[in-house]
Amino acid sequence: MKLLRFGDVGSEKPGLQLEDGTRIDASGFGMDWDETFFADPGNLDRLREWADANASGAPAIDASTRLGPAVSRPGKLICIGLNFSDHAEEAGMDIPAEPIVFFKATSAIVGPNDQVVIPRDSQKTDWEVELAFVVGKKASYVSEENALDHVAGYLLHNDYSEREFQLERGGQWVKGKSCDTFAPLGPFVATADEVDDPENLGMWLKVNGETKQNGNSSKLIFGIAHLVSYLSRFMSLMPGDVVSTGTPPGVGMGFNPPQFMKPGDVVELGIDGLGSSSQTAVACE
Ligand code: ZN
Repeated sequence: MKLLRFGDVGSEKPGLQLEDGTRIDASGFGMDWDETFFADPGNLDRLREWADANASGAPAIDASTRLGPAVSRPGKLICIGLNFSDHAEEAGMDIPAEPIVFFKATSAIVGPNDQVVIPRDSQKTDWEVELAFVVGKKASYVSEENALDHVAGYLLHNDYSEREFQLERGGQWVKGKSCDTFAPLGPFVATADEVDDPENLGMWLKVNGETKQNGNSSKLIFGIAHLVSYLSRFMSLMPGDVVSTGTPPGVGMGFNPPQFMKPGDVVELGIDGLGSSSQTAVACE
């Protein structure tokens, strides 16, 4: 199933994208796609039954309706840095011996096609197409063998980054990763059963129609099962948490000279089976 959320900011409702691409209002199921929903794998089965019985009669979502973040208020938004060897190289950094883990403020989360706001005083706003996953049942000290039992689904994420805030202002990367609108999530969460091999998905990103990133999740240094197991040794991954697995090469700072965003730029991105999104850059008011 493909889980989405739609409606105005702050009052999104749950919806589903059907096989034929139709989007329907799933409010009738009675749950939002949040921690409570993802905590019980049985909810996915019950939702499937609900959809089989009710999809044809549920209200359709108009194509012009705004999509919200595909997951409702995750407790954590965790990112993995430099997880593609060729991206580490373009960033001028060593290939990490262990996953580089950082947080992104959950207040950065927006809908997949919302505007991206270039922060005040930013000179180096940059893009990063990423494969993210949503945690299902709680993961604490899980083995790699059992790790994927804790993944509820996959989704598209643009890990927007302000490189000066991230790399030149001291301290943690979190400062350059957390600005409002820096985490468009969606268009939908594809449940894990929909994705045959999450580590063989084409990933792309264009700016103003020009391809910048064209990668494949087969190039991840640390794979998904390893990441779940690894992270679960340092913290509990809670249902509904989102983990973003890193970006392939082609980010703005990797070009010579670097290419950073300006108001009016249109960023489009997508991952095989996970849909696409588009953000137009605007200046901070
Ligand atoms: Zn990233």
